[in-house]
Amino acid sequence: MNTSILVIYTGGTIGMKQNVKTGALAPFDFSGIEREVPELKKIKYKLDTHSFKNPIDSSDVDPSFWANIATIIKNNYDLYDGFVILHGTDTMSYSASALSFMLENLNKPVIFTGAQLPIDSVRADGRENILAAIEIAASQQNGKPTVPEVCIFFENKLFRGNRTTKHSAEDFNAFRSYNYPVLAESGVEIKYNLPAIAKPKSNKVLKIYTEMDTSVTGLKIFPGINCDFIDNILNIKGLKGIVIETFGSGNTPTSEKFLAKFKEATDKGLIVLNITQCQVGHVEMEHYEAGILFKKTGVVCGKDMTFEAAITKLSFLLANNKSVTVIKEKLQKSLRGEIS
Ligand code: ASP
Repeated sequence: MNTSILVIYTGGTIGMKQNVKTGALAPFDFSGIEREVPELKKIKYKLDTHSFKNPIDSSDVDPSFWANIATIIKNNYDLYDGFVILHGTDTMSYSASALSFMLENLNKPVIFTGAQLPIDSVRADGRENILAAIEIAASQQNGKPTVPEVCIFFENKLFRGNRTTKHSAEDFNAFRSYNYPVLAESGVEIKYNLPAIAKPKSNKVLKIYTEMDTSVTGLKIFPGINCDFIDNILNIKGLKGIVIETFGSGNTPTSEKFLAKFKEATDKGLIVLNITQCQVGHVEMEHYEAGILFKKTGVVCGKDMTFEAAITKLSFLLANNKSVTVIKEKLQKSLRGEIS
C-alpha cells in the first residue's frame, strides 16, 4: 500500500510574505509553499494538505489552536501514516509539548517543522526542513512507524518535541534538546537513534484531549525578588498552578518571608512546580539546604522538564483531573517522555 502523509499548514515564517506597505512579514497561504518547493510533486508518497483558513504567526497560538490540530489528527488518523505540521518557530516547542500530552497512545509520527526564512527567499531553510520531515513521517521499520511520537525536525536534527526549546532567533539550527538525545540526524541518509525513540504502543487506540486549563502562570526567581510581588502573584484570583524557575538544582532564597509565601500558597491548594533556570540538568531539592527549605513549603519537583513542557503539562493535567494529589503525582512522572 502507498504511504500517505498529511501536511497541516498552520502559518509561521515558512509561508510568510513581506507586506509591501509595512515591510513586515505576515502569513500567506499554502499555495506559495507548493510553488516554491516543486520537489513536493516528486515525492513518491501520497501527500495531502490541510491548510488553516487563517494561517497565523505562532505568537498567536493558544489552547484552542492545539485542540484544532489534535482534532484534525484524530479525524484523519486512520487515513494517513504520518503527519507533518508546518508551524512558526517562536512557539513550536510549546505546541509540540502540548500536543504530546493531548495525543494519548500516539502510534504514528507527528513531525513539527518550519523555517527561519520565508520559503521564497533565495537561501530558504524551509525546503529541506519540509522534505526531510515528510521523509521521517513516512519512515517505517518492519511495517511500523520509525518515530511514533510528537517531534520537531529542524535544520538537520529530529528532536522529541517536549524536550525542545527555541534556542536561537537567528541560526538555522534554532532548536535544542538539552536533556535528551537527538532522535535522528539527516545527512546523505537519515540516521535514526533507535534506542532513544519511543516504542509503538501495541493495539492502543488514539485518545485525544482537547481541554487545557489556563489558570496557570510562570515565575522566574532572581536575586532580590520582591516578596510582596510574589505574594500578589501567588494570590491571583483563580490561579491553580504556577511553574517556578529556580536556581541550579532547584534552590531559592531562604528568607522566612519568601518561604512563608509559598507555604501559605501550597496549603491553600496552589500547585507550585519547581523547574530549574539552567538549560542542562534537573531539580534535586535535597542537594542544598536552600533546596530542602523550599521543598518543605510543599512544592512539586519538576525534575528536568523544560518550561514549555512544564507549563503545558500543568494546564493539561488541571483540565483533565479533579484531584490535586493525582495531579502532583503525575507532574513528577514521565507521561510522554518529557522527564528523564
Ligand atoms: N514569528 C514567526 C512565528 O513563530 C517566527 C517563525 O516562524 O520562525 O510564527
